[in-house]
Amino acid sequence: MKSIFPRINNTTLDIKKNTRVISLINELKVKGILPIEELKYIIENISQNECQELFYIANMVKEKYYKKKVYLRALIEVSNYCKQGCFYCGINRDNKSIKRYRLSSSQIFDSVKNAYNLGYRTFVLQGGDDPLLSDEFIADILIKIKNIYPDTRITLSLGEKSQESYDKLKIAGADRYLLRHETASFKHYMHLHPRDMFYDNRIKCLHYLRGSKYQVGTGMMIGSPFQTSDSLVSDLMFLYKFQPEMIGIGPFIHHHDTPFKDYSDGGLYETLVMVALARIIVPKALIPATTALGSIISGGRELALKAGANVLMPNLGPEDKRELYSIYDNKITISDSDNEFKTKLENKLIKEGHIVDYSVGDHIDLEGVK
Ligand code: SAM
Repeated sequence: MKSIFPRINNTTLDIKKNTRVISLINELKVKGILPIEELKYIIENISQNECQELFYIANMVKEKYYKKKVYLRALIEVSNYCKQGCFYCGINRDNKSIKRYRLSSSQIFDSVKNAYNLGYRTFVLQGGDDPLLSDEFIADILIKIKNIYPDTRITLSLGEKSQESYDKLKIAGADRYLLRHETASFKHYMHLHPRDMFYDNRIKCLHYLRGSKYQVGTGMMIGSPFQTSDSLVSDLMFLYKFQPEMIGIGPFIHHHDTPFKDYSDGGLYETLVMVALARIIVPKALIPATTALGSIISGGRELALKAGANVLMPNLGPEDKRELYSIYDNKITISDSDNEFKTKLENKLIKEGHIVDYSVGDHIDLEGVK
């Protein structure tokens, strides 16, 4: 990956840089944030020698609030239709080569039912910005789910909407909303999106969601084309100021049918560093170990769970649709049956010292509020 993290693959110890990076990480833990130049110093000078210390501190911060728990959420990818033209995304409107699908309300409900029976108590309904997934259509599903399973939480991740739409969906039963800001640099945003998409609107939507009383998630890709250490520092400052309840961070991975098909993918260590820094800067956030991390390297998600992440979102949507939600190349899809996968996953997590938690798993400040 470019030279945003120029020293990340260094294994030879540079004592002077090592000492400064470690002391800045410790200062960050105490103060919660650092001046821009110091955050930039960490990003530009961290090597694998200091990563272990960073991951250790991030993990301690996580354990302070969430102990050794890993929250499990059932991800259901409801539609790959999208009206947006994000240059990085394989399901963007201009990709004419993919087969599009939209789950019916009974397919969504059946996936929820299956997930509930397996023990999941949070369902994440994610999809492209699909105009045919109307507020009424989604609201009806939310009402039905909450009527039958009142002891659950529903997270939506359906893109940019109006304040009225977010309000309606909240009232119908949605609890949380994931909307990554993608980048906190206006210039970088312009490189990633076509002219009819607006940075200001993305940020406005995050404020709408706050206004509608959702638990709000945001985040960014690491290693996306045109990203710089300055834009990454802006991301960290944005996270600090916004204090989201959830933060999704994963590597950019190219998709062969997008304008970014020839760009290289984000790296493992670069992504883990940003996950760990985000944990220290927003200590109580719920942070998933993303599928994208597991897709660039087997075991990537497990490493994130030791670097500050505390959520896993296995795909519980219909098996025959999982491959169609191809936002990037070589996305991992689970071939085991859901039950077998569940047992394997649980055993693996327990073996690595985690506590598997299927409860609703609200943000710590909201526990018991409902
Ligand atoms: N439409 C909704 C939205 O815009 O928030 C949710 C679906 S969108 C596909 C979910 C996330 O996938 C995006 O926020 C983006 O960060 C991530 N994503 C898209 N293309 C990606 C790629 N090529 N590599 C890694 N992550 C990608």
